[in-house]
Amino acid sequence: MSAPRVRFAPSPTGSLHIGSARTALFNWLYARRHGGTFILRIDDTDAERSTEESTSSIFESMKWLGLDWDEGPYAQSDRLELYQERARQMIENGAAYFCYCSKEELAAKREAARKEGRPYRYDGTCRNLSDSERKRLDSEGRPKVARLKIEPDESILTPDLILGDVVFDSSTLDDFIFMKPDFTPLYNFSSAVDDADMNITHVIRGQDHLPNTPKQILISKALGMEPPKFAHLPMVHNARGQKLSKRDGAVGTLEFREMGFLPEALVNYLARLAWSAEGEQEIFTTEELKAKFDLDRVGKSPSRFDLKKLTWLNGQYMNEKPLSEKTEGAALFLNKAGYEPENAERLERIVEAVGDRLHTWPDIVTYGSYFFEEDGAYEFDPAAVKKWFRSEAELETVRAAESLIESIDPFEVDEIDKRMRAWAEERGEKLIRVLQPLRVAVTGKQVGPSLLETLEILGKESVLNRLERASEELPKMYAQKG
Ligand code: GLU
Repeated sequence: MSAPRVRFAPSPTGSLHIGSARTALFNWLYARRHGGTFILRIDDTDAERSTEESTSSIFESMKWLGLDWDEGPYAQSDRLELYQERARQMIENGAAYFCYCSKEELAAKREAARKEGRPYRYDGTCRNLSDSERKRLDSEGRPKVARLKIEPDESILTPDLILGDVVFDSSTLDDFIFMKPDFTPLYNFSSAVDDADMNITHVIRGQDHLPNTPKQILISKALGMEPPKFAHLPMVHNARGQKLSKRDGAVGTLEFREMGFLPEALVNYLARLAWSAEGEQEIFTTEELKAKFDLDRVGKSPSRFDLKKLTWLNGQYMNEKPLSEKTEGAALFLNKAGYEPENAERLERIVEAVGDRLHTWPDIVTYGSYFFEEDGAYEFDPAAVKKWFRSEAELETVRAAESLIESIDPFEVDEIDKRMRAWAEERGEKLIRVLQPLRVAVTGKQVGPSLLETLEILGKESVLNRLERASEELPKMYAQKG
């Protein structure tokens, strides 16, 4: 096989949908796996819907995911002359023709078909206009579009690399429009022209494009080109089996960055949506994917996007990160949440203490916000208070802990541990029955890193302040509980 040339051709009409990011990834992986070329092309012929902003966010999404392109970015809007030249050629050689039918005429024909209960297809009125008729219509200044001539009863076969042989019947297509009245191209035409002009060998894209495939094959043929091979990827669905959309939450690639996911974890997750290797392996480095990915192990049925699974996978990647890198990421997300961790060493200790609870970056806030809040300002989670303060006894524990804390010296994990155990035993309590109320008292939360570490990091003075505050505040919440 000669080296493949593949392209990712997004339309810049919004942010890069996560399903499209997967299409980009599969093209990229296919090129990397086979020593091919990955081309980025911006399908921006729809001037009204295309925006610069979308284009830059597509570039940024791809850079964030590490999907580097070897050629491009090409913009279709820079290539209008090429499409016009090809359209003229096709009209000259009889593969296509100008159609002067007005919108009203077509609407009436469509309506008639509807009334008779048959599917509407363009009836070919302008297919065989004589030169003089055409001249007359041109001299009247009638707007015209270009249509492709399609012969009925032709079967168009494409050996799809994922779906197997797919056959289309040309009778289901009509002489479709490929150039608009302003002589600019429609998607199927510019796409097929570019795929031919850029020597694209494989078109890897979503199954939603399957209906476009016969049209593009016919255009390639009309251009005298061999059509590329096609590989249609299964769609990405939500948990209910519907197309993943904004209503399901985040779908823009960069939104996942905002949510604190790691690009390498997202790449791994997207690769596994629809592709599997032999065996049970779930975690693949990008290098492994580049070495193992191929289209023959891409499934046909829709894949379900599962945020929980992605979060789990992200956690696995987080765990592998060196502490310094984790600390940097955590600082960034703390800043976003409005916290300003000033002491780098302390922050590193906190990140270490949070440990494998850090699945995505914002978990540093979930499990550690109180480290960055004033002793008098962290919030008490009502559910935590409800669960761990069931009677006066727990409040008593918090109050009594003050003198214990005061007397621990040095105020370090080992010593705190030893003294805390002895203290619980003295009080005839299980260790957890004293640790959990204390955790709620000094952090406001019921989950978090090891309490002993938490206490050491907070320091004796802060712990004492917090215990005192809790003794005052908790009875109020306690009372509200009724
Ligand atoms: N611009 C099209 C899209 O974004 C490209 C489809 C294709 O790959 O041909 O859906």
